[in-house]
Amino acid sequence: MKFQTYLIKYGEIGIKGKNRYMFEDALVRQIRHSLKDLDGLFHTYKAQGRVYVDCDGDYDGDEVVEALKRVFGIVGICPVVRVEDKGFEELKKDVIAYMDEVYPDKNITFKVEARRSRKSYPLNSMEISRDLGEAILYAFPESGIKVDVHHPDVMVNVEVRNEIYVYSQIIPGAGGMPVGTNGSAMLLLSGGIDSPVAGYMVSKRGVSLEATYFHAPPYTSERAKQKVVDLAKKVAKYSGPIKLHVVNFTDIQLYIYEKCPHDELTIIMRRYMMRIAEHFAKEDGCLGLITGESIGQVASQTMQSLAATNDVCTMPVYRPLIGFDKQEIVDVSEKIGTYETSIQPYEDCCTIFTPRHPLAKHPVTKPNIDVIRRSEENLNEKIDELMKQAIETVEIIEVK
Ligand code: ATP
Ligand code: MG
Repeated sequence: MKFQTYLIKYGEIGIKGKNRYMFEDALVRQIRHSLKDLDGLFHTYKAQGRVYVDCDGDYDGDEVVEALKRVFGIVGICPVVRVEDKGFEELKKDVIAYMDEVYPDKNITFKVEARRSRKSYPLNSMEISRDLGEAILYAFPESGIKVDVHHPDVMVNVEVRNEIYVYSQIIPGAGGMPVGTNGSAMLLLSGGIDSPVAGYMVSKRGVSLEATYFHAPPYTSERAKQKVVDLAKKVAKYSGPIKLHVVNFTDIQLYIYEKCPHDELTIIMRRYMMRIAEHFAKEDGCLGLITGESIGQVASQTMQSLAATNDVCTMPVYRPLIGFDKQEIVDVSEKIGTYETSIQPYEDCCTIFTPRHPLAKHPVTKPNIDVIRRSEENLNEKIDELMKQAIETVEIIEVK
C-alpha cells in the first residue's frame, strides 16, 4: 500500500498563541529541509492546526519516514492513504481494503473516528464513524476483530477534506522542539563519542548549532580532521547545517608545553579551547557553549577540573551529559548513528601532551584555580599573539 501523505503530530504543551505559529513555521521549515535531497515532490503545509506532508512523483516512503524521524519537534508520524471521494459506498470499500492490508492479523479491537473539515459531506462525523465501524465488522466476520470505543488497539481516523484521508498508525518521532526556535550555541566538537551526543541533545531542544574543532597538525592528521567533519555531518542530519570552525592549535599547545607545569597541561589547554570557542560564539551571536563533559569521566572532568575550565567562560556552558554514565552516552551515539565514526582510531590533539617518559607526572585531578591562573602568567609574553593567529587562521567549513 502506498501512503501519499504523512500527518505530523507534535507536542502542544506550552505552545499557545504566538509561540504556536513560531513553532509550526519552524517545524515546516525543518521538515522541508530534511526532505530536500530525497527523490520525489513534497508539499509540506499547515492546515486546520495540523502539519501535513503530501508526496508525489517517484518517492520512497521508507526514506521519507527515516528523514521525518530526524526532525525535532515531531512526536509522531502518521502514514495516510488518500482516497478520492466517490461516494460513501466506495469509501466503505476503501476503508475495508485499508484495514485488510494494514492489519493482516485481525485479532484486534478498533474504533473509527471521523472528522469533517468539508461540512457539505452528506453524512456527519458520528454517522461516518458508526457506519464505517459496522462495515469493517461485517467485512471480517469470525476474524476476531471487535469494536472497543474506550481503549481500542487501533484508532482508525477518517478525515473528510477535498479528498478523504485514512490513517491509523503512529510512528514515533524524535520529540524535542524544532531547530531554530531557541537560538544557537557553539559546540566544542572533538572526534570522541561524547561531544556529538552533547550537540544532538542541545539541538533537540530547538537550538541550532555551530561547532569548533581544535587540531594540531602535523601531530594530528588530515584524517582526524575528516573524522570530525564526518561527525558534524551526522549531527547535522538532526540539527540542520553546522558552521564548523577548525582551529590550528599546535603553536598554543607547544607554547603551553614549554612554559607550564606538565601536570597542568590538560587543564590549561582546555581553558584556551574555551576562550577561543567563546570568541567565535560571541562573533556569531551564539547564546552558549556546549561540551561533552560528564562528572568524573576522566581526570580533566572532576568537579575541580570543570570549575577550572568554566572559570574562563563568560557565557553559559551547557553540559547535557553531565550526569550520564559512559554506557548511556554510547547508547545515544548508537541510536543517532555517530558511534561507528567516533570509534575510528585517529589521534586527538592532546596527544602532544602524552607523557613520553615513564616517570612523567600524572595530570592534576584537583586543580586549584589560583594555581592554574598563576601558571598561565608564564604565557604572558606570546599568548595574545598566538591566540590572535589561531583566530585569524581559522578554517570555516559549512557542514550540511
Ligand atoms: P569526547 O568524546 O567528546 O572527545 P572525551 O571523553 O574525550 O569527550 P575530553 O577529551 O576530556 O573528553 O573532552 C571533554 C570535552 O572537551 C569534549 O566533550 C569536547 O566538548 C571538548 N573537546 C575536547 N577535545 C576537543 C577538541 N580537540 N576540539 C574541540 N573540542 C574538544
Ligand atoms: Mg576527547
